Amino acid sequence: MNNESWDVIIVGGGAAGLNAALVLARARRRVVVVDGGEPRNRFAPHMHGFLSRDGMSPLELLEIGRAEVRGYGAEIITGRAVRAAGESGAFTVELDDGRMLAGRRLVIATGLRDELPDLPGLAEQWGRGAVICPYCDGWESRDSRIGVLATTALSQHQAAMLRQWSADVTFFGPLTAELDDETRAGLEARGVRILPADATAVLADDEGRLTGVTLDDGATLELDRLFLGPRLVANDELLRQLGAARGETMMGEWVTSDSVGLTSVPGVWVAGNSAMSNSLVVMAAASGATVATQINADLVMDDTRRALKATEAHV
Ligand SMILES: Cc1cc2nc3c(=O)[nH]c(=O)nc-3n(C[C@H](O)[C@H](O)[C@H](O)COP(=O)(O)OP(=O)(O)OC[C@H]3O[C@@H](n4cnc5c(N)ncnc54)[C@H](O)[C@@H]3O)c2cc1C
Repeated sequence: MNNESWDVIIVGGGAAGLNAALVLARARRRVVVVDGGEPRNRFAPHMHGFLSRDGMSPLELLEIGRAEVRGYGAEIITGRAVRAAGESGAFTVELDDGRMLAGRRLVIATGLRDELPDLPGLAEQWGRGAVICPYCDGWESRDSRIGVLATTALSQHQAAMLRQWSADVTFFGPLTAELDDETRAGLEARGVRILPADATAVLADDEGRLTGVTLDDGATLELDRLFLGPRLVANDELLRQLGAARGETMMGEWVTSDSVGLTSVPGVWVAGNSAMSNSLVVMAAASGATVATQINADLVMDDTRRALKATEAHV
């Protein structure tokens, strides 16, 4: 087993992890990124809302990012980290091929998984005809027939928000029966159609474009775009192993961190969707850069302490 030693080990090479690596490698830190190659938005052909990158393929963004990071001497390993242990100054990360990495600081930028409802035809549409985020796909859905499937108590906010992109919004599913009178009246006053029927399948045409959903009352709802909120599951196995504290958020239980991404475990930072389940790509990248500057400052202090110790040992 080969023990490789780094200043910073970054697990996760999406926008968050790569931006952290870019800033740290430019600060001449020895950086390794371990990445499983499954960014959350890999299903989407285009990425929106990132200044100067609007409309770019999300995979192209990461390819460019990896080249930039490597250009400053960081290493990127394709693989999965399966175990993390240790303490600030002496962390170890084990990879799925048995390789061991040792690092002074750890960034967890492993993101999250979207668990879709079990609805025939939905997985095939995910990221294209069926989407989650109004800020990512609202503009592309403007003035079209939008369906919002009620999957959680937060779905009503999706329905209310999407009304600003289109006058043709249908909010449907059995959960709509649980709307309080005020919310229902507000949605209806803005022209949102509310249907209690549940979806039984997502429909597509011969070219694979979403055309609507079938409903359990036998009707077909014709749509151009379906919005829904999947169950968000943090890829937080390593954070659990390290004992990072967790707390309740609007999106469910998540690891807690301070405003610059430091978790309750000294030396372990989180960035991107690992820190905030609702972060967009530009926010994930920014949080990676923030974490990187914090870690570098922390390492500078550590370097000073070590230098002083070495000086004292010589007098
Ligand atoms: C369908 C869809 C469309 C979207 N469209 C947009 C959009 O248009 N604009 C926008 O701003 N946002 C969009 N988003 C949100 C966007 O996906 C996230 O903001 C972004 O991916 C967060 O970046 P991240 O680096 O935190 O995580 P990710 O991009 O998910 O990267 C995490 C990386 O960590 C890796 N990983 C996980 N566990 C391990 C492990 N144990 N070992 C090694 N590697 C691991 C994964 O393989 C992955 O490569 C969209 C999301 C979805 C679902």
